[in-house]
Amino acid sequence: MALERTLSIIKPDAVAKNVIGEIYARFEKAGLKVVAAKMKQLSRQEAEGFYAVHSARPFFKALVDFMISGPVMITALEGENAVLAHRDLMGATNPKEAAPGTIRADFADSIDANAVHGSDAVDTAKVEIAYFFAATDVLSR
Ligand code: UDP
Repeated sequence: MALERTLSIIKPDAVAKNVIGEIYARFEKAGLKVVAAKMKQLSRQEAEGFYAVHSARPFFKALVDFMISGPVMITALEGENAVLAHRDLMGATNPKEAAPGTIRADFADSIDANAVHGSDAVDTAKVEIAYFFAATDVLSR
């Protein structure tokens, strides 16, 4: 087991549905602790930079448009195997394929508006956390 951190974003659709607390309760029940948090309206430039790895994909513009369509909740989570634990809670990218009881199965409407983002690896998590939080904003506990 390894103590890890991961970046979690509650996307505009889930913020609009007012289920921030329900999603965070799932993180807490799974042993993940919030170590940094902020609500933010992303600028187009911030969203494009965050998803730069997808810039050549056909869904890139729609993804950026969606991510700036309303505020998001950005959280750094810490826990044992946090990256995988968080992705297990999220479920598959396409909510139609997400396992019952996962966040995307319960709260997401489509592959575009799929409620949550989670880092896909420990190295990615480091980059993504640093994208939104200064080192002094991450309060390990
Ligand atoms: N996405 C999309 N259409 C696709 C594939 C992905 O709109 O065909 C969006 C979706 O919001 C997804 C994000 O792009 O969450 C990043 O894709 P990735 O494959 O990294 O999925 P994730 O790690 O979020 O499950």
